Amino acid sequence: MAFFKKKRRYIPITPISESQRSNPLPKPSVPDKMWAKCPECQQAIYAKDLGKAKICQKCGYCFPLEARERLEVLVDKGSFKELFKTHTIANPLGFPGYPDKIKKSREQTKLDEAILTGYGEILGQKVVLGIMDSHFMMGSMGSAVGEKLTLVFEYATSNQLPVVIFTASGGARMQEGIISLMQMAKVTNAVKRHSKAGLFYLAVLTDPTMGGVTASFAMEADIILAEPKARIGFAGKRVIEQTIKQKLPDDFQTAEFLLTHGFVDQIVFRQELVEKLADLLKLHAHEK
Ligand SMILES: [Zn+2]
Repeated sequence: MAFFKKKRRYIPITPISESQRSNPLPKPSVPDKMWAKCPECQQAIYAKDLGKAKICQKCGYCFPLEARERLEVLVDKGSFKELFKTHTIANPLGFPGYPDKIKKSREQTKLDEAILTGYGEILGQKVVLGIMDSHFMMGSMGSAVGEKLTLVFEYATSNQLPVVIFTASGGARMQEGIISLMQMAKVTNAVKRHSKAGLFYLAVLTDPTMGGVTASFAMEADIILAEPKARIGFAGKRVIEQTIKQKLPDDFQTAEFLLTHGFVDQIVFRQELVEKLADLLKLHAHEK
């Protein structure tokens, strides 16, 4: 009975070092994009339950949409025609690693830049669209985004069409420095010419809309809608608190806060957005 005679071996237990304690082994992970955690109600949600519009079924939180996902739930099937696609990469300051970052973002998002532009129809209403995507370098506005936006407004002006822009941006793109800031004035001029032609411009502010985007075309629309709980502001909350040395309200820079202070006309739930846009476009349709 050799089995019972088998000697027990002594296995020494090494004490856990400080570095191991602070860097524990990675937790087991589930396949990517299978589950999502709602930042609002903290519930784990099976990704497929979110639906195409990516809305939390438990609390109604709207997850950020990629530009093409937004397009899919927005325009009439087959009506979208992409316009003003860019292939160039400008690096006016010679910022190290910037062209590679753009190339990587292009591969990951399948977009040419941080905004998708084109012509489409929303429940039969013709419109020129610009949909920003925060997944592309935080939706930041550099010279290419500014140029695409300008072309959107110029195209809409010469074709007597309304414009709908979905904003989702961290602000001006720091890699292009002053050139990015100049886009604010450039796009603003195009918005003004579109407005002078008596045409309708509507902006939908989605989470997040910050910096130079808020300080220019996002706030220049005839009607400004926002998605619930979207963060909308110029400088970040912490930066302002540190500068003015005062505590800001908890809901500061939210769509709800801006609504009560007159910066936003209406907060619209994503489920109701398409009909709301179609109604407003119909109401403001340009008489020929
Ligand atoms: Zn939720």
